[in-house]
Amino acid sequence: MRSVEVETHCHTNVSKHAYSTILENVRYAAEIGLKGICITDHGPELFDGAPPYYFSNLNLVSKEMYGVRIYKGAEASIMDKNGRIDLSGKALTRSLEWVIASIHLPEFEKDDFASVTSAYLHVMENPYVDVIGHCGRGDWLFDREKVLKKAKETGKIIEINEHSFDSGDESAHRCYEIARRCKALEIPVVISSDAHFSGAIGGYRRAQTLLEEIAYPEKWILNLDFSRFDAYIEARRQRLKKEPVFT
Ligand SMILES: [Zn+2]
Ligand SMILES: [Zn+2]
Repeated sequence: MRSVEVETHCHTNVSKHAYSTILENVRYAAEIGLKGICITDHGPELFDGAPPYYFSNLNLVSKEMYGVRIYKGAEASIMDKNGRIDLSGKALTRSLEWVIASIHLPEFEKDDFASVTSAYLHVMENPYVDVIGHCGRGDWLFDREKVLKKAKETGKIIEINEHSFDSGDESAHRCYEIARRCKALEIPVVISSDAHFSGAIGGYRRAQTLLEEIAYPEKWILNLDFSRFDAYIEARRQRLKKEPVFT
């Protein structure tokens, strides 16, 4: 499989359990030959999230540095079974080009299958959400069939997150199962590092091996190719011009 050209999920020290600046992340991305990077810090309601103004003001950051396209993003937290995320209004609509929606503690209990399923189904109705983050991670089980079919129907992307492999064998197994079903349904995926330090950017060994082992078609892995990813972002921009502000 060819190499990933765009990092789609990384944190900066704006999230207080991450340790590098935007500039350090971008510089490292350039050093390892990436062509694009999405900066995706946590939304305001997570314990270490950035305030709403941080997100609405992100367009101050350069579009490109060191030859790397910088996409302004967020990793929003899904807050309830109705799929509400912790970004809305200008924080969501003004500057962001790429929005990951993920479940984090403590909003959902580990065994609350119905609420987690409902949360994923509803969050996919949000036109500003691009991708479901680390849904293979071990803590939250859901109706995989219903959720992945909804992703197909709504055009959402599923993330294959390297960091999820650190959560044990069950998570790794779940990531495989999800990816197999995504392949059958022809759902686009992205491979991401979820780096919390610049040196971890571009570390996708296990996520990439997974997709190689199941022969995931490269044309459905959005961030293998910079042009394809960038075209997605431009199409998103055009589409959202017509959307009402989603609150
Ligand atoms: Zn996360
Ligand atoms: Zn993350």
